[in-house]
Amino acid sequence: MTTLRLKWRNLRDEYDFGSQTITLPATIGRSRQNAVRLRRPGAGISRQHVQITVDECGLRVRDLQSTNGVYVHGHQVREGYIPSGGMFIIGEYEFTLAPSVRCANAQCAKQVDTSLVICPWCGRFLADAHTDVDYSYIPEIKH
Ligand SMILES: [Zn+2]
Repeated sequence: MTTLRLKWRNLRDEYDFGSQTITLPATIGRSRQNAVRLRRPGAGISRQHVQITVDECGLRVRDLQSTNGVYVHGHQVREGYIPSGGMFIIGEYEFTLAPSVRCANAQCAKQVDTSLVICPWCGRFLADAHTDVDYSYIPEIKH
């Protein structure tokens, strides 16, 4: 079981942001069967918009035939890996992943994405590497 910490913000509304810990595979969308539900009307989110999975190469996002698509670092993808510390955009929302760190288990010492709560190789709990939610990446809105 792989757990992931996701945080997001609405690119058009600085007060609309959030974070959630989810178990993979997981979906993001407007309807209630999604692990992450974004219900805001007119925000460009489909009922089931994307699925997030993990494999030995990293985290992967897949477009579930959404209306507005998925963008990873500015490029629309049907399915693609999200780089460590990377982000993707669906509708008005930008999702951010934390950068990777070396696993603190000396026998393992693999580079692990700190958005993952548990090291996928050795099972060590990674929470101390990533306890605070950092919202400093939200740019200032000019009025
Ligand atoms: Zn490890």
